[in-house]
Amino acid sequence: MNTPLLGGLYRLATLPLENSFASLPPAFHTRLQPTPIPAPYLVAASSAAARLIGLDPAEMATEHFIQAFSGNRPLARSEPLAAVYSGHQFGVWAGQLGDGRAILLGDAPAAGGAAPGRVELQLKGSGKTPYSRMGDGRAVLRSSIREFLCSEAMAALGIPTTRALCVTGSDMLVMRETPETAAVATRLSPSFVRFGSFEHWSYNDRQTELKTLADYVIDRLYPELRAEPNPYSALLTEVTRRTAELIAQWQAVGFMHGVMNTDNMSILGLTIDYGPFGFMEAFDFRHICNHSDTQGRYAYHMQPRIGQWNCFALGQALLPLIGEVDDAQAALEIYKPAYDAKLDRLLHAKLGLHSMLPEDGGLIEAMFELMQQNHVDFTLFFRRLGDLQLDRPEADAPLRDLFIDRRAFDAWAAQYRLRLKQEGSIDAQRRFEMNGVNPKYVLRNYLAQNAIEKAQNKDFSEVAALLKVLEKPFDEQPENARYAQLPPDWASELEVSCSS
Ligand code: AMP
Ligand code: MG
Repeated sequence: MNTPLLGGLYRLATLPLENSFASLPPAFHTRLQPTPIPAPYLVAASSAAARLIGLDPAEMATEHFIQAFSGNRPLARSEPLAAVYSGHQFGVWAGQLGDGRAILLGDAPAAGGAAPGRVELQLKGSGKTPYSRMGDGRAVLRSSIREFLCSEAMAALGIPTTRALCVTGSDMLVMRETPETAAVATRLSPSFVRFGSFEHWSYNDRQTELKTLADYVIDRLYPELRAEPNPYSALLTEVTRRTAELIAQWQAVGFMHGVMNTDNMSILGLTIDYGPFGFMEAFDFRHICNHSDTQGRYAYHMQPRIGQWNCFALGQALLPLIGEVDDAQAALEIYKPAYDAKLDRLLHAKLGLHSMLPEDGGLIEAMFELMQQNHVDFTLFFRRLGDLQLDRPEADAPLRDLFIDRRAFDAWAAQYRLRLKQEGSIDAQRRFEMNGVNPKYVLRNYLAQNAIEKAQNKDFSEVAALLKVLEKPFDEQPENARYAQLPPDWASELEVSCSS
């Protein structure tokens, strides 16, 4: 039963599911079945995600697939459960949260020779759980499509993230600001444990459970840390490092998460819980993508320090296991150097620079200052920067046209050219390298919105088309150039806010 069929691929019926999280004591979760939704249909599915668990993509066209991932028919061997966690929301202790609308089905072996470990399958929007508080346990089609597309887009950008296997929809209405139809997203990740999963036990002074969870996470996800003198401070160091590097990757691509609460921070350093996220368009380092974030706590320029704040919250939670405050402090100290080094490497690559010189800081700062003053589109700027030719400033027009103050651009470009010449940069080679790190295609809000509006009218073709474009964000794809365009005027009216 545990061997894949079909030349190395599993059918749904043969997927060798287990549920390691279910082996944790009952306090960690509640076992329950998803609540079925009426007459589900397939909205979107990702073959790339299916391959992560060796699932035959042909299965995605079957009724079995729709029934299993809408929560209507139990998947063989699944042991569904909702996990408990807590967290700080907008900097304030919120107490018990937990999977209010997510149900973990189990874990399957990671596919592909090189990938060790297992991958968990989780339904989101699959009905109420004991942790739903006032919520209905559902997710709307709009937010499920956004999470689906962005998970897969981030993976294609090379940014650590949970993945999305599919979205199923139903005509069942759920009440938000207006009535909307319900959907269920299936997410994949080696683990959905969050910083808030640890805070939950720590704040309730339940040290036995705190240790059980830490040991579970170390043994399963960080086995190499077991040999460390203090595996718990080593865990804090490693999670802090990964978080710092993740946020550097967000900054470098202009991604804003929107709700960096500690319950939305992955213990694996993955981007998790896509809600009111956004990609920077007209550059404004104070940009707030989440309409509910009135204080701008999660604005673009705040993300690095909020990431650090969240790591401190994790450190606080792990303190009873680590023992000494000084050891926890020492573990957290990695944040700033890890963030700075990663961002520096990424920015140099974005500028096509091979060497790193102390004076590059000034060039980069001046660049962001110019982008800020001229409201330059983040993605277009870096992509077009790759077309710059060292000895042909007259060919700068498409890039230069992004700026209101062209003279200021020319002055900066002259400095940039000097710097490139200094290291003997070659146009064609640099362009090739820069196009490999500066995406042409990102999930702009208006692109998601177009796909959502069609999907709300039962036309799912645009979701599929957008997925295909975003799966190759660095490729030119001349036939899809329209997906790389500036947002239309109506896009400035788009508002995305918390849980929907
Ligand atoms: P979020 O801000 O989306 O990360 O959600 C915070 C918490 O609220 C999570 O624990 C969710 O499980 C829960 N939640 C969000 N929306 C709902 C809903 N419609 N029904 C039940 N729980 C929800
Ligand atoms: Mg969340």
